[in-house]
Amino acid sequence: MRHSFFGGIHPDDGKRLAAASPITPLAAPDQVVIPMSMHIGAACTPTVKKGDEVLLGQVIGRSDKPVSVPIHASVSGTVAAVEPRLHPNGQTVMSVVIDNDHQDRLDPGVHSHEEEVEKDPACLLGLIRENGIVGMGGATFPTHVKISSALGKVDTFIINAAECEPFITSDHRTMLEHPEEVLAGIRYVLKLLKLPKAVLAVEGNKQDAIALLRDKLQGSTDIELLVCRVRYPQGAEKQLIQTVTGRQVPPGGLPADVQCIVMNAFTCYTVCQMVRTGLPSVERVVTVSGPGIMNPANFLCRVGTPVKYLVEAAGGFKGETNKLLMGGPMMGSAIFSQEVPILRGTNGVLAFLAEQNRAKENPACIRCGRCVAACPMHLQPLYIYASERKGDVPGLKKLNATDCIECGCCAYSCPGRLQLVQSIRNAKALIKKAS
Ligand code: SF4
Ligand code: SF4
Repeated sequence: MRHSFFGGIHPDDGKRLAAASPITPLAAPDQVVIPMSMHIGAACTPTVKKGDEVLLGQVIGRSDKPVSVPIHASVSGTVAAVEPRLHPNGQTVMSVVIDNDHQDRLDPGVHSHEEEVEKDPACLLGLIRENGIVGMGGATFPTHVKISSALGKVDTFIINAAECEPFITSDHRTMLEHPEEVLAGIRYVLKLLKLPKAVLAVEGNKQDAIALLRDKLQGSTDIELLVCRVRYPQGAEKQLIQTVTGRQVPPGGLPADVQCIVMNAFTCYTVCQMVRTGLPSVERVVTVSGPGIMNPANFLCRVGTPVKYLVEAAGGFKGETNKLLMGGPMMGSAIFSQEVPILRGTNGVLAFLAEQNRAKENPACIRCGRCVAACPMHLQPLYIYASERKGDVPGLKKLNATDCIECGCCAYSCPGRLQLVQSIRNAKALIKKAS
């Protein structure tokens, strides 16, 4: 361990619930719902209509905007509808609904790209775009845009395998069960970036994966395995860069400003699968866990599978569920219907019981300063909260509220149980509205 970041917390990681559960492939459901917006950037426009026959891996949505990626059918079958459907973000989003024929008939364009990438590593960039690969750690930023903006400008390629969010074990299991694919994906991107070496950063609570990767990397000089201290939010991009390089991304800046590019381990796995099989980003590993789930597990499922299908596969709920989340407990979002689909960036579905509800009826700040000590971005959450309550936009700007990475460390540490993250999200919206 070379460097460290300010603040952070040590929550119970809850990973023991699902860490030993091997990735179980789930049969595709009878119907998938595929939203035209599953990434940061421009939403896609459907390229199919009701009644069309579609093939597995076929493009069903596209945008010509630079920050966007095409969207593909995750099953073969018939388009049942092209209409707005409930999205995990709580809004309705244009979606393509496909009745699965359970034949998995492949689009003829799906074939291995190994030879072409071997001959011309630069062609990988176009393949990454065309196959819909986005940041699979939850950020969902189009990977080709990230790589394009880093080409020739960075000297450090970091693979984020920290997976610091409590309960989530999808990257951990992927590294344990598919280490060669993860490493091959890293090497494909490394060649594209024309860098001599990558740093694979794993949190120290994944000892079995660390031992396995160390073994696989024996004698290799192109990938360095870095075991990081277990501390949330170790896997946040800026914090990980600081841990690995000691460099600090300036406020409002990007990793490329400090000559770094960071990619998630599952994204590298997806790159490898795409190169080897030609299959676009149509499936992903999802951890279904939390105290409210009967049999916590990791599933490989098709994009567009309804959440309820995964919950049922994990034995259903245990007791009265108080909260259902997509993503981790720190940075995930609450979902209010089990009908919403799994997206490309979904790494977990978590259920919590009423007894885990930390909300307080009349939250009050006791000025203990714990939120300030926990904030890895050196912010002052209590003052941001107070300014947001007053709608004081100049004050919020002065407090650099937009630098907040919404990690939740402040809210977790707050004895007054203030809804700090919600307040800061609102503060950002106020600043955006005023600008
Ligand atoms: S203010 Fe933002 S960055 Fe700081 S601890 Fe709270 S959520 Fe995290
Ligand atoms: S941790 Fe909570 S109670 Fe303490 S200063 Fe911050 S907002 Fe106030």
